Amino acid sequence: MRLVLTNVLPIAGLGLLTTLLHDSAWGWATTTLGLLLVVIVQTRSLASFAAWIDDPQRSDAPDHAGEWGEIYLKLSRRLRVEARARDEIEARLRSFTDAMDAVPDGLVIVDGNHQVQWANRAAGDHLGIRVPRDGGAIIEQLVRTPGFAEYLGKPGEPSPFIVQSPAARARTYALRIVPLGQRNTLLVSLDVTDARRVETMRSTFVANVSHELRTPLTVVSGFLEHFADEGSMSAEQRQQFAHLMSEQTRRMLSLVDDLLTLSRLEAEDAPASEEEVDMDELLAQLLAEGQSLSEGRHRIQASCKGPALRGNRKELHSAFGNLVSNAIRYTPPGGEIRIKWKLRGELGVFSVRDSGVGIAAEHLPRLTERFYRVDRGRSRDTGGTGLGLAIVKHILLRHQANLAIDSRVGEGSTFRAEFPDWRLRPDDPPSDDPQTSG
Ligand code: ADP
Repeated sequence: MRLVLTNVLPIAGLGLLTTLLHDSAWGWATTTLGLLLVVIVQTRSLASFAAWIDDPQRSDAPDHAGEWGEIYLKLSRRLRVEARARDEIEARLRSFTDAMDAVPDGLVIVDGNHQVQWANRAAGDHLGIRVPRDGGAIIEQLVRTPGFAEYLGKPGEPSPFIVQSPAARARTYALRIVPLGQRNTLLVSLDVTDARRVETMRSTFVANVSHELRTPLTVVSGFLEHFADEGSMSAEQRQQFAHLMSEQTRRMLSLVDDLLTLSRLEAEDAPASEEEVDMDELLAQLLAEGQSLSEGRHRIQASCKGPALRGNRKELHSAFGNLVSNAIRYTPPGGEIRIKWKLRGELGVFSVRDSGVGIAAEHLPRLTERFYRVDRGRSRDTGGTGLGLAIVKHILLRHQANLAIDSRVGEGSTFRAEFPDWRLRPDDPPSDDPQTSG
């Protein structure tokens, strides 16, 4: 309206004035010329407006006076407000996507046609689904595990669907589906590899313990049946059976003792208390215990040339005692065993060397696993529980020490416990000569 008032009225007035002063032909000519001029000017303004509105971000609004100036001003203001609102929405969306990408569980949204709408980063690692690449793809064609399509069809299913990752380092994921709104579904994947590994270890452990206890229990219960039948055995037989039963009972007791030791070690991260352990005294004790176990069948030497060791005496005694006992049990009569404590560079090294049966290289990495034995018969015959080295490893770990094993079949083995320098008393003088027995 204002456009008409400011442009057309003055021209109409000029035409009227010209008509009055001259004649009507002049008036019409003046009015037509004026209107033509107005049309040309407005058409040019409209063209430059159209060019600007196509991409208002690229350049500032053209400098215009009058109505066009006002239109540009109002539109620029409105566009600025809209741009600010869009930036804000984009920033919020970005922070939401970042948060979803930080979630360790995989999240995928699929629509009613099972087409992928959105997925977070973990979904890419777990299921190989990446958006935008897989946007619109049918989820069953991306997760090709048998049974998955049927699982998708049961939204209320309480138990998860388990899938294995195709990657070389196989991982296990539990998938769940959650209805989302009217038509969509949220697929959640959870990495359950470690939980399943622990569960497998637990059930293997229970199976092993049951097996270990079952054998002596079967023997004892068999003997007890004979005992019940009084007349079926002589006094001598009875005594022999009683001896065998107490041997089996001792075996069960040492298994239970070792299990309790292991579970106590696992329950606490660090020893309850630490002290300066007098290694002279500890080695003398280990030597005496070794001699009693060997009953004179081996030559045993102990030499202490290192400082006092900071640690839990009871635990260290248990770990070192296990190594000495193994050396005696896996060394035939007449063999030699050396127990040593010395400094090697910065480290304090406790070692037990034997001239026994030795261990083939392929067994070495698995020796500290629970119930792992190279020779099951020999272990059982010598009263082994299969838990000794697992206990040793645990105790050494709690003392930041490393277990090193050197062995050759038929020549013997050396087990070394290497302690860091900060566990050694710095100013201790080296100790005396080897103590020998045998
Ligand atoms: P075990 O009670 O069977 O001795 P350990 O955990 O102490 O269980 O040892 C695991 C296995 O390592 C043993 O069964 C044995 O085969 C092997 N082993 C351990 N120490 C020695 C050694 N000094 N010489 C030969 N083999 C050994």
